[in-house]
Amino acid sequence: MSRDSRYDILFEPVKIGPVTARNRFYQVPHCNGMGRTHPTAMAVMRGVKAEGGWAVLCTEQCDIHPTTETSREIRLWDERDIPTLARMTDLVHEHGSLAGVELTHMGYHASNLTSREVPMAPSAKPVLGINPVHARAMDKTDIADYRRWHRNAALNAKKAGFDIICVYAGHDLSIAMHFLSPRHNQRTDEYGGSMENRARLLREVIEDTKEAVGDTMGVVVRLAVDELLGDKGVLAEREGKEVIEMLGELPDLWDVNCSDWDNDSITSRFAEEGFQEPYIKFVKELTSKPVVGVGRYTSPDRMVSLIKKGVLDMIGAARPSIADPFLPKKIEEGRIEDIRECIGCNICVASDNLGVPMRCTQNPTKGEEWRKGWHPERIASKDTDDRILVVGAGPAGLEAARALGQRGYDVMLAEAGTELGGRSARESRLPGLSAWGRVRDWRVGQIQNMPNVEIFMDSRLDADQVRETGCSLVATATGATWRRDGGGRYHEFPMPGAVDNAQRVLTPDDIMDGATVDGPVIVFDDDHYYLGGVIAEKLAADGHDVTLVTTGAYVSTWTQYTLELGRIQARMHEAGIEVLANHAVTEVGDGSVTIKPIFGGQAFERACGHAVLVTAPLANDMLYHDLMADEAALKDAGIRRVTRIGDGLAPGTIAAAVYSGHRFARDLGEPLGDAIPFNRELVELTETFAMP
Ligand code: ADP
Ligand code: SF4
Repeated sequence: MSRDSRYDILFEPVKIGPVTARNRFYQVPHCNGMGRTHPTAMAVMRGVKAEGGWAVLCTEQCDIHPTTETSREIRLWDERDIPTLARMTDLVHEHGSLAGVELTHMGYHASNLTSREVPMAPSAKPVLGINPVHARAMDKTDIADYRRWHRNAALNAKKAGFDIICVYAGHDLSIAMHFLSPRHNQRTDEYGGSMENRARLLREVIEDTKEAVGDTMGVVVRLAVDELLGDKGVLAEREGKEVIEMLGELPDLWDVNCSDWDNDSITSRFAEEGFQEPYIKFVKELTSKPVVGVGRYTSPDRMVSLIKKGVLDMIGAARPSIADPFLPKKIEEGRIEDIRECIGCNICVASDNLGVPMRCTQNPTKGEEWRKGWHPERIASKDTDDRILVVGAGPAGLEAARALGQRGYDVMLAEAGTELGGRSARESRLPGLSAWGRVRDWRVGQIQNMPNVEIFMDSRLDADQVRETGCSLVATATGATWRRDGGGRYHEFPMPGAVDNAQRVLTPDDIMDGATVDGPVIVFDDDHYYLGGVIAEKLAADGHDVTLVTTGAYVSTWTQYTLELGRIQARMHEAGIEVLANHAVTEVGDGSVTIKPIFGGQAFERACGHAVLVTAPLANDMLYHDLMADEAALKDAGIRRVTRIGDGLAPGTIAAAVYSGHRFARDLGEPLGDAIPFNRELVELTETFAMP
């Protein structure tokens, strides 16, 4: 297939100072939880994206000195860090792409718990977060030191083979941005006060970088033009505009976005594709240099329109490049329908925040490119004669059937219901989650083109029927069901009254099935991810009087990792939902519940029509156990292995279910045994050491 000529414009080269990007696809810096602790995994992950057609591949933030330190991101503290990063630049160059490095000094954002160096900032202040650490105000020596460290890091980056230096002034994560910001910079010297003074350090660092490496490397500025904090933060019409007016022609390219990270990587629950456009569209009017911006762009038509309208010169992407490393190549080859669109769930972000290699809901190979040798597009052709039955067409079953089909296996996919997608279909009908339907859409779209994958709808299989299929391998992807008895984390045994007053109890499954709800409603969330909050939101939107009781300190506490926590609290407030955090529902009565503060205090009663218990799902593994109960019958039926996958093995995220389905397609459920199922990057011991 060849590409649609409408998209030709996306494949025009773009000059970034002395270097040239081969097309307009620019993977902006993004964290990945691999960094310097899993450097080969990080390098291969970027290399795969270069293969997939991204013209520019940037690193995540790269700390330039021990006074700015995170535990997991990459470093260029000195020359010894060069070989780790050179591995990435080599792989990126193999595919004709450019490698960029985002040089970072996080200032008051870094607590420096490992290096134990005192953080520094334009003005003295507590570090971001709650660590009992304070940043000191930088004096002139500190400013000179910072400039020198940045210059040295740029020179080392050149030695590591990078083509582009990103001077970082974004995400409230960089000293250069802290100086721009009126709330961080309360100085009275020539680096504080007027905009010209506050931009002085950024100007100096750009000039230093240009002077050091600008003859051979592109110098990019990554600038947060708006913090969405109103008057007290950086504002597009104030700092954003004035900085570009002053420094517009200095760098070779502007990479602009909204800060902080929770605004830049806002989830689909809270914003549509392209939400940053109104904030950044002024930039191109003020500079002749190319401009990059992001917005979870996955539609090539939208990309073309951004370029034609003069909003952007290059399409920036982090999450769309994670969900589909081959997005540019698919557009280039005229395979638009093959693009695996990001769903905007931020599971990738959560991995990084948890300090573990990034995973992705849509792309189960993410983070496994080197560890397991999983390529996002290629998979080994079938190497057995198995005919394979997949029972259940949720995220796990669909992914298993799709990837097995790609391998060339004959697959039967049986689904009990009348729609495909399992929970990805059901949950996508809840408020804010419509983009999650893309998990189903992409897989169904792929399977429909596979003559070797047969789908049977409305087919709830029992053990006899499974044995009659004539398949030699079976995967049960039968999902999970939310508990009705209130058991979970807080109630390790069923909650008193939940079974006896079952007529007063509903579960998330009931709500998604359209159960009649009697108010007032108590939602008890002991699960802590999104669903409790989303169910409460739905019930409030349906006109119910809703109280959300949670054993967490916040509604949906785990969403601190997906950057949604603040917006979820605000949404509860806007929806008029009463929140009782640090409380548990301890008993369900007939028309009321008992609620108790979990850290002590008096229990009290609340009247309710229904209590919705969002405590824990349990795997639907009956079919699996029925099959395994009669090994002789399995053997007679020619079934050599039955494997549970996805939520039917143990409930988790949709990302985990997709991963589980993919893994089955790769290993056909081969038991783990004693083998370690992935490559490990081992720590190299220092050759000599002395005892103190
Ligand atoms: P997962 O996230 O693990 O994919 P889901 O709950 O989303 O799990 O999907 C499970 C799917 O399996 C549902 O669509 C459900 O209707 C289907 N299913 C459950 N039991 C059977 C069965 N015995 N036969 C066929 N399909 C089943
Ligand atoms: Fe997109 Fe979710 Fe994948 Fe992140 S994890 S890239 S948000 S689909």
